[in-house]
Amino acid sequence: MTKQLCMSCKKEITNDPGSVIFTCPACDKNKIIRCKSCREICAKYTCDCGFTGPN
Ligand SMILES: [Zn+2]
Ligand SMILES: [Zn+2]
Repeated sequence: MTKQLCMSCKKEITNDPGSVIFTCPACDKNKIIRCKSCREICAKYTCDCGFTGPN
């Protein structure tokens, strides 16, 4: 099982019920992983394809 790390803070999101994992809307390929705290503060994330977003 691979560890899921938040894209913004690199924190492990295992056991974080507020975290989200979704496919990048731009490349539809890479997974975007965000922890609860980064969602709350709207921390920016950047996909490998160059897409950045607040959500
Ligand atoms: Zn985070
Ligand atoms: Zn992407």
